[in-house]
Amino acid sequence: MQYSSRRVAQIPPYVFAEMNKKKARMIQEGVDVIDLGIGDPDLPTPRPIVDKLIEEMQDPANLKYPSFIGCAEFRKAVADFYGREYGVALDPDTEVLALIGSKEGIAHLIPALVDPGDVVLVPDPSYPVYRMATEIAGGEPYGMPLTAENRYEPRFDTIPKETAERAKLMFLNYPGNPTAATVDLDCFERAVSFGRAHGIAIAHDSAYGMVTIGDYKAPSILQAAGAKEIAIEFGSLSKTYNMTGWRIGYAVGNSRLIKSLSVIKSNMDSGPFTPIQKAAAFALNGDKETIVAHNRIYRERMDVVIEGLAAIGVRAEAPRGSFFIWAKVPQGYTSAAFAARVLEEAGVIVTPGPAFGPAGEGYFRISVSVPGDRLEEAMNRIRHQLKFDGGQL
Ligand SMILES: *Cc1c(COP(=O)(O)O)cnc(C)c1O
Repeated sequence: MQYSSRRVAQIPPYVFAEMNKKKARMIQEGVDVIDLGIGDPDLPTPRPIVDKLIEEMQDPANLKYPSFIGCAEFRKAVADFYGREYGVALDPDTEVLALIGSKEGIAHLIPALVDPGDVVLVPDPSYPVYRMATEIAGGEPYGMPLTAENRYEPRFDTIPKETAERAKLMFLNYPGNPTAATVDLDCFERAVSFGRAHGIAIAHDSAYGMVTIGDYKAPSILQAAGAKEIAIEFGSLSKTYNMTGWRIGYAVGNSRLIKSLSVIKSNMDSGPFTPIQKAAAFALNGDKETIVAHNRIYRERMDVVIEGLAAIGVRAEAPRGSFFIWAKVPQGYTSAAFAARVLEEAGVIVTPGPAFGPAGEGYFRISVSVPGDRLEEAMNRIRHQLKFDGGQL
C-alpha cells in the first residue's frame, strides 16, 4: 500500500507549516516567541465589511451553490475597480473570475496551462506556491534569479533559448513577496514583449497591489501595451482589507486564460461563498481611507524595523510596497544560521531567505504585519539580546 503519489512524495513540507511546528514547540517550553515570519495582517477586517457579510447571510438565496465564475455583483465590482485604479477596461463576464483566495487561482492556473515537461518561469526567491504547484502538475520550474543588482527584476536575456521555447507560463509578483521589490510599468512592458515573442503566458500576482507606501502607485500588468493578449493578473482582498481568512480573490485579464482556469475550477471547486463575494464587492466599491490608514501603519512599523536592524549593523532599505523588510544577513552568516541565532537569543522568528528559493540565500525576511508593541519588543530584543562579538555579530 502506498500512501502518497510520486507527485506528493516529492514535495517538501510547506515551509510555513514547519515553522509553525517549531514555534508551537518553543511556546510550549515557555518561551514568549514573537513571530515576524508569517504575512497575515494583525489588523482586523474593517467593521462595515463584516456587517455587510452578516447582512448578506440573511438572504437564503445567497446560501446556495455559488455561480462557477462568481456572482455578477462581485465581477462588476472588480471590473469597476480596474477602471478606476488603472484605467483598464474589463468585461466582467469574460475577463474576471472569482477565486477562493488568489492562492487557489495561482495553483489551479498551472494545470490549466501546463502539460508534464513544460517549463514554468518562476522568480527566485518568490512565493513558494508557483514552484510547488508546477512540480505537482509535472511541470519544470525554471528559477529566474532576482537580485539587488538587477533591482529584483528578471533578466529575460539570460533565459536560455531552449528554456524559453519550452516555457508555457511565467510568474511575476510586484510589490514582491519576499523581496518587497516594486516596479514601474516599463518592467511589465518588457515582460509582455518577451512573453509575446516566445508565446509565454504571464501571470502577475498582485496580492500587494494596494499595499503601497507614500506616493508610490503599483501598476497593473494589464496597463502594459498588448498585455491582454497574454497576461492574467491575480488580485486578493486578503492583504488589502485584512481578509486573509475569508478566502476571496480574483483573476482578471486574457479571456482565454480565464476560460482555461475556469474549466479546472469548475471541476475542482464550486467558487467562493456568495455572501463573501458580496461583502468583497462592497469593500472594492468603498473608498480607500482604511487602506491608506493601514499602509501608513505599515510604514511606521517599517521604520522601527529598519532602525532596529541598523543597531546590529544590518542595513535594510525602506520599501515602496508590501509589508515586508528584506535584508542581508550579517557577514559570515548563512540565512539559516542567522535566523537560528535570532530565535535562540531573542525568541524572534524571522524567515530565512532560502525558504523562498535558492537565490534567497544571504537574506532574511521580516513581516511588519504584527502589532506595533510586539514589533518594538522584538526589535528591542534583537538590539539588546543578540550577543555581540567584539562589536560585531
Ligand atoms: C498572501 C499571498 C497570496 C495569497 O493570497 P490569498 O488571496 O489569501 O490566497 C498570493 N501571493 C502572494 C505573493 C502572497 O504573499
